[in-house]
Amino acid sequence: MGNASYIGRFAPSPSGPLHFGSLVAALASYLDARNHDGLWLLRIEDLDPPRESSMAPKEIMTQLHACGLEWDQEVTYQSARIDVYERYLENLAEQNVLYPCVCARKKIPSVYSGTCRDRTYSSTEKPYAIRFRINNPLVQFNDIFVGEASYDTTREIGDFIVKRKDELFAYQLAVIVDDCEQKVNHVIRGNDLLSSTPRQILIAAQLSLPVPRYGHLPLVVDRNGNKLSKQTHAAPIDTSSPLSTLRHALRVLGQDTQDHATNTKQLLSNASRKWKRSLVPNNNHVHGN
Ligand SMILES: [Zn+2]
Repeated sequence: MGNASYIGRFAPSPSGPLHFGSLVAALASYLDARNHDGLWLLRIEDLDPPRESSMAPKEIMTQLHACGLEWDQEVTYQSARIDVYERYLENLAEQNVLYPCVCARKKIPSVYSGTCRDRTYSSTEKPYAIRFRINNPLVQFNDIFVGEASYDTTREIGDFIVKRKDELFAYQLAVIVDDCEQKVNHVIRGNDLLSSTPRQILIAAQLSLPVPRYGHLPLVVDRNGNKLSKQTHAAPIDTSSPLSTLRHALRVLGQDTQDHATNTKQLLSNASRKWKRSLVPNNNHVHGN
């Protein structure tokens, strides 16, 4: 099935059922993959138990099924891959690009200034976070939807955490390791993650891993301009009428709404064929209603 020269994925964190914003990301990554005869994988990013609901993975899969969004291969759970992340962390440690950080999270300005850069593990007591030391700050990539992106990561981001003080692996490390190990070469996701991308590219470069092609979608916001999320009490998507939910998502993505389709299978196969990246609005956000 499919053409392994394109591998895409949808990678929700199971903080709750999918809301409309996450469905838009799921649909766009699905359509872009299918349009290129590619594979579409599902990965559950369950690395942060305090923020998760144990029901969510099953709820998410039920919602995707109801919308006809069928994924290829077995679902991956990040919680089952801790030893893999540990191995890559060791690789980074051997390259001497990691250091322990004891700064209190609340006191750190949005760009970390490198206070702990010269700390050593032997002189630092746990608990500490582990930071990645940026040596080559300039990161550039050509985003499918956003276009050319360029970051001076030292000035704009600062050395960043790869393992947290509570011993949980940071999203930045796990996600790029998984994308590379699963040979994911196209990452289509919401642009709330745009500023994460340079961090993931830095890690990939340090580990000599291939960097996927990225496409960051405009963020779906509510009437008040807030990102749809569990924190803003975004409602779970309505799976009782999947066709109208999918059409709504297609409209937000600037695509034809496939009004003649009578079932999700037909709608998705037509929408996959007709998918045009150039129609996706390239503004920062789109209104969900
Ligand atoms: Zn520090």
